Amino acid sequence: MNNFSFPLSKRATTATSSAIREILKVTERPDIISFAGGLPSPEGFPVEQLHQAYDKVLSTQPKVALQYGPTEGYRPLREWVVSDFKSRGVDICVDNVLVVSGSQQALDLIGKLFIDEGSKVLLESPSYLGAIQSFSQFGPQYATIPTDDDGLIPEGLTDELAKDARFAYVLPNYQNPTGRTLSLERRIALVKRAAELNLPLVEDDPYGELRFEGEALPGLFALAQQHGATVIRMGSFSKVLSPGLRIGFIIAPEAVIRKLVQLKQATDLHTATVTQMAVYEAVKDGFLAEHLPKVRELYKRQCHYMLEALEQNFAGVNVTWTRPKGGMFIWMTFDGDVNTTELLARAVEEQKVAYVPGQPFYPYAQTAPTNHLRLSFVTVPEEKIRIGIANLSKLFK
Ligand code: PMP
Repeated sequence: MNNFSFPLSKRATTATSSAIREILKVTERPDIISFAGGLPSPEGFPVEQLHQAYDKVLSTQPKVALQYGPTEGYRPLREWVVSDFKSRGVDICVDNVLVVSGSQQALDLIGKLFIDEGSKVLLESPSYLGAIQSFSQFGPQYATIPTDDDGLIPEGLTDELAKDARFAYVLPNYQNPTGRTLSLERRIALVKRAAELNLPLVEDDPYGELRFEGEALPGLFALAQQHGATVIRMGSFSKVLSPGLRIGFIIAPEAVIRKLVQLKQATDLHTATVTQMAVYEAVKDGFLAEHLPKVRELYKRQCHYMLEALEQNFAGVNVTWTRPKGGMFIWMTFDGDVNTTELLARAVEEQKVAYVPGQPFYPYAQTAPTNHLRLSFVTVPEEKIRIGIANLSKLFK
């Protein structure tokens, strides 16, 4: 609905704030225990390191830090990304890296790069709702790649499904919203299949460094170097340092980066110079190797508290949930006729607990299943996790 006395673009008119978002606004109230947020834990923010980094940048290089910079990003930070990926066996050079203002901007630029009105875009089912929102600005038609309890099924990427698709958007590590991790076999099969189909893969991996169980698996970009597929890999400092920095990056073939640079130039000229320099200053001497184990340990404990509370309180309820090996989210699936969207208002008002219903993680709400919900385990302290999960279970008993 356009409530303005002047016309707006179709894009602005179709962009809506969801009913769920309205309900979740009340979750900022102190009496509500909210498992709805997608925020990393502030306990993991390296405040002192960032403070020193900003100080150093502003005291030693103020004229560079406060000036416009190249659209591609601050070169030393791009070089750091190159060396970080090289240390994991990924062979790239600085021309393969574009710094962006959070990986959310990467989604916007990728939408601009690929999507015309009506273009087919392939998603996992379910998928990150912020990506659906971002791509939807450009009016695509979505088709979903089948998934099971182990995530995306590569064989589900049939010729028919992939026909005329512009790209497939995939989250191999601790997926948002399900917390699932794609196995190595499936990663290889997916990359080989994408190569056969000449289908670009957009790999989103903001949570890869937040692994608290099992071995790190090679990403799709790394595997594509052996199998020939085109992968555009998004990365982010939001979950390893802090999201308020708004620093992310895209790794892609040089020609793709050149196009993305043109699109980014029109969007915001470049990502904040001072912040890029501070991030580089903070990470350049190996800080993440000492910092990340602490964040992983924190998230592991938090996840454990929530899984324990779920086991204690949901015994006897017909429900299953995922057991993530990293990241921030658990995904619950109820048997039978359960509508988590409808139950949210009662959860908040009667039980003082909030979650995100599953429906917005599917591109078309009308056909989306109603029996899922997403819980974040990272920001709520242990005692409140126990109370919140006990309260939540009352709704389903
Ligand atoms: N992708 C996924 C899967 C996410 O969960 C998020 C943050 N919630 C983003 C991208 C955006 O992250 P940022 O812009 O902070 O890098």
